[in-house]
Amino acid sequence: MDSGIQLEVTGGPSEITGSPDGLSLYVHIPFCETKCHYCDFNTYAGIEALIPGYLGALETEIRFWGERLNRPVVSTVFFGGGTPSYVPIEGIEAICRAIFEAFNVTPDAEVTLESNPGDYSKRELGRYLEAGINRLSIGVQSLDDDLLKSLSRRHDSETAVGAYRSARDAGFDNINLDLMFGLSAQTADQWRSTLERTVALNPEHLSLYALTLEPETPLDAMVRSGEVEEPDPDLAAEMYLHAESVLGNAGFEHYEISNWSLPGRESRHNLAYWLNVPYLGVGPGAHSFLPGRRFSALRSPRRYVDLLSGTMPDGDPVDVLSAVGLLDSVEPVTPETKLADTMMMGMRLARGIRSDEFQQRFGLGLGEAFGSLIEEMVGLELLVSDKDGIRLSDGGRLLGNEVFERFVTASAEVELPGD
Ligand code: SF4
Repeated sequence: MDSGIQLEVTGGPSEITGSPDGLSLYVHIPFCETKCHYCDFNTYAGIEALIPGYLGALETEIRFWGERLNRPVVSTVFFGGGTPSYVPIEGIEAICRAIFEAFNVTPDAEVTLESNPGDYSKRELGRYLEAGINRLSIGVQSLDDDLLKSLSRRHDSETAVGAYRSARDAGFDNINLDLMFGLSAQTADQWRSTLERTVALNPEHLSLYALTLEPETPLDAMVRSGEVEEPDPDLAAEMYLHAESVLGNAGFEHYEISNWSLPGRESRHNLAYWLNVPYLGVGPGAHSFLPGRRFSALRSPRRYVDLLSGTMPDGDPVDVLSAVGLLDSVEPVTPETKLADTMMMGMRLARGIRSDEFQQRFGLGLGEAFGSLIEEMVGLELLVSDKDGIRLSDGGRLLGNEVFERFVTASAEVELPGD
């Protein structure tokens, strides 16, 4: 669907116009106190000396975009990483100030910060709120201490619950808790207990992530050498179904494959990705999608700092950042890639792909584009198709990746009007 966000990329500077919904801004913080053995995110431990220079470079990039896009409307901001709460709070305050000056942040903007329990006191939480952060995401992962140790996490369950309570006391009224399931050492009982205790805390939002073995992570090597047992996908599926039932009974809406929220408390920032509408990412490794182009920044924080210390020439911002070497990749968004992305991201949502929005966006009906594949998937009971559109069935959610892949492959064969 179209968000109402319209960006005009002209020969000169890019310009965002008529943007009632606003752009989503992602801010990457590539620092963690320790690197978890399962994590393949672009984040590093032991480079704390780089933090002051990094924050300066980040401010430079934020101001660069604000200026070149004519202070665009921004309706969501997301500090992710990495561990944003590991950075000294003065640094986050300075970045918030830069964002509010460089962009036209809407008064009701959703501003989220990812955090690790134990990184902050109630006083510091109050300072986050004052800086404009109004949604806190806490990486709880589990409320089982043995499991937390086996994940090499720095906190225990008491610290996690304490962090949540402090955030409430400080005034946060929109809190997400991250949990992990499908871990090698995790039992169904541990998962049940973590879920029950988490629901009892009354968060507005829960993200539940199945452990995936990422290539070249220490955990992957441990599993391959037999030191750690391979996670059991059947047990993970059972845990997922159990969560669906517990959270459904507790009043949560399962609005995206890995995400549940109380009504009206979906992550607005992540919805922008899933609805495939424009977003801007700042920091090393951050991805962006502006009309006509997708691009991502180089991954090295050190190189990022070096490259942003000079003066930027005039011109289109994507071309400028590409010319100075800050971008790893820039690719055009063709109608075909837009179709594949819309299918892959939109199918993650419980609402699925809506017929009328699809027609409006691509100029043909869902049935015309994917008729035989939809029929096949419905026959396999992986998809539900009705007059409103298509969406994954309950069983299809467990095999989401396979379904997305089929639609992405089929997208290449679709003849779009004007092709
Ligand atoms: S704290 Fe999060 S981002 Fe940092 S290493 Fe662990 S999983 Fe990765």
